[in-house]
Amino acid sequence: MIESPLLENLTGYIGGRWTDSSNGATFDVYNPATGAVIAKVPSMPEQDVLAAVDAAKSALRLSNPYPAENRRQWLEAIRDGLKANREEIGRVLCLEHGKPLKEAQGEVDYAAGFFDYCAQNLEALDAHELPGKPRDCTWTVHYRPVGVTGLIVPWNFPIGMIAKKLSAALAAGCPSVIKPASETPLTMIAFFKVMDGLDLPEGMVNLVMGKASVIGKVLCEHKGVPMLSFTGSTEVGRKLIVDTAEQVKKLALELGGNAPFIVFEDADLDAAADNLMANKFRGGGQTCVCANRIFVHENVADAFGQKLAERVNRMTVGDGMQDGIDIGPLINKAGFDKVKRHLEDALAQGATLVAGKQPTDLGDGLFFPPTVVQGVTRNMACYKEETFGPLVPMALFRTEEEVIEAGNDTEFGLASYVFTADAGRAQRVAAGLRFGHVGWNTGTGPTPEAPFGGMKASGIGREGGLEGLFEFVEAQTVPRGF
Ligand code: NAP
Repeated sequence: MIESPLLENLTGYIGGRWTDSSNGATFDVYNPATGAVIAKVPSMPEQDVLAAVDAAKSALRLSNPYPAENRRQWLEAIRDGLKANREEIGRVLCLEHGKPLKEAQGEVDYAAGFFDYCAQNLEALDAHELPGKPRDCTWTVHYRPVGVTGLIVPWNFPIGMIAKKLSAALAAGCPSVIKPASETPLTMIAFFKVMDGLDLPEGMVNLVMGKASVIGKVLCEHKGVPMLSFTGSTEVGRKLIVDTAEQVKKLALELGGNAPFIVFEDADLDAAADNLMANKFRGGGQTCVCANRIFVHENVADAFGQKLAERVNRMTVGDGMQDGIDIGPLINKAGFDKVKRHLEDALAQGATLVAGKQPTDLGDGLFFPPTVVQGVTRNMACYKEETFGPLVPMALFRTEEEVIEAGNDTEFGLASYVFTADAGRAQRVAAGLRFGHVGWNTGTGPTPEAPFGGMKASGIGREGGLEGLFEFVEAQTVPRGF
């Protein structure tokens, strides 16, 4: 069983107090590197989720809103708490998620950056008066907190994803009810332990864990929760849209991706290969922004494939707690089986292995070796679906128009990347791609300073940047006649 000073309370957190499940039910948390059960945490029933919503409601202040100075102090205190505990939170994260320890600790730094950004930019939410006097009135625009928010996050960035949401919610003065993924509740508990020692109002942050159907139902149906912010699969995002339609709830949805990574023949191939490696294998390829379809100009495909193979063959796969590991285990058997199915399907339909193992040689456990295949075509599962694993499928293209069309040939529109030395071409391709994020000569993902989010079925709304700050407020206009 896991031991950590941040995990003294393996429970939920409601109204400023650690709270066990009222019916005593629990679920197991696993270390994906070993398969061992490392903790049991409460599976909270409906009445506990309702109690969390009530606690959050009691922390909401509308007529006498929390002053900006208070909100800034909360954000800075959380930022500092994360920084002070980066190593231990990262250790917990590594043990339940599997990503390499250094990468896990880097995710804590990334999370702290969102609280810092919101703290430094709170004045963007100040009320302002419109110029002139339309209709003989003085017009003031206020940014009011939306109210109690439900924040639901996935397992692939157990601290990064909640940081994006909670920083903006607190900046706006919105209390929240937070649900971590069932694979990674321990990082969230450790985070709450950090927040427990700070001066947040009781009920401002509440933690519930357990069955997604139970928690999701309360958050969708409760009239006291006017907004949900969700990161996860498009499938669940669609369900939340349907289940909140009756009340016309405000939704912020960060959903799935199917990122094209385009390498033109004039690109710096070494730089493109290095960026692809960093982009693709972070989190073992289990990120929404990682390249899922690699389009390489036919004139440089062999050279690029060679560079990729050299790099991939140097990577180490193993328990993320060990030194020098590049890729940890996949999160669970379903995740492993999906990557394996994509590899089998690609090979069966004519793709060839450039690096990695044949599906029959993958062995036991959740460790999937980094794998590169070439000759990928549109009918293959790895082209159509989000693989969420360390498989690099390479397809060929000839023209700019053709690759823009191919890149857009997906219902998703989250991240995309283009490598070319031609600025004019980069601008045309970026404008043509229906993706919320287009990296030009970089495989970098989001940063706290910039808005990030999806077009099409990849979501609604933005996180990060000023756009992210505005997600949790509603503009209220007050024209004054005299
Ligand atoms: P998921 O199955 O959709 O789960 C995400 C979260 O939603 C988990 O906390 C899950 O709880 C919960 N959930 C499941 N069903 C629910 C329901 N009916 N009502 C309310 N909550 C429900 O996604 P995942 O497999 O964890 O995450 C991978 C997906 O997230 C990928 O598609 C990836 O692209 C996407 N993602 C997107 C972004 C982005 O910024 N756009 C970032 C990261 C990940 P349980 O764990 O208890 O089932």
